[in-house]
Amino acid sequence: MRFIFLGAPGAGKGTYASPLSREWNIPAISTGDILRENVKQNTALGQKAKAYMERGALVPDEIVTGMMAERLSKQDADRGFILDGYPRTISQAEALNKILVEKNHRVKAVINVEVPREVIIQRLTGRRACPQCHANYNVNTSLRPRVENVCDQCGAGLITRSDDNKETITRRLAVYTEQTAPLIDFYRRDGLLRSIDATGEIPEILNMIRAAVEWN
Ligand code: AMP
Repeated sequence: MRFIFLGAPGAGKGTYASPLSREWNIPAISTGDILRENVKQNTALGQKAKAYMERGALVPDEIVTGMMAERLSKQDADRGFILDGYPRTISQAEALNKILVEKNHRVKAVINVEVPREVIIQRLTGRRACPQCHANYNVNTSLRPRVENVCDQCGAGLITRSDDNKETITRRLAVYTEQTAPLIDFYRRDGLLRSIDATGEIPEILNMIRAAVEWN
């Protein structure tokens, strides 16, 4: 089973991908997490990506697609995956199609997570991330950690992502509208798109995603 979670930054893609990946026993692959890990480890890839990420721009397609081709060739992705944050441009979607055709694989559904802009801004400004296990929290919602600034899952100290500041958030939302939103029509034409209203509580949204996937 292969799924793409599409949506603006802060729509909650990672929050929904994580429990569903455990439930469906397939990896949730977040390009943002892989890139951040590369920046942290100061790899050649991380050095190339860092400046783009810090200003809220997209990392160039060829860098991200090369990274994803490598990630998708790992054995754990053979049975399926949830892609969180990839593709983000039409050219990445075309590259992904090529990778999948070569493997004789196909995407089962593209879940388009829809949230109004005010809610997105509230979610992004309250977001806290675990740098160790990548769990996401939010101090503005019911997703608060049990102990302030401590990860419920692994006990690491939580951080505010450096790109979760007002100026970069505005830039990331503009980049989403210009470069990523056209993917909605791209996947609608393929008959793969399932749009979900993700303004409610997490269990309700997870149920909507499960139902959307079963229609397919
Ligand atoms: P995210 O964690 O998905 O919000 O991604 C954080 C940042 O990583 C983005 O603002 C981009 O700079 C970069 N990034 C993540 N995924 C992609 C992608 N598919 N294409 C280009 N840049 C990406």
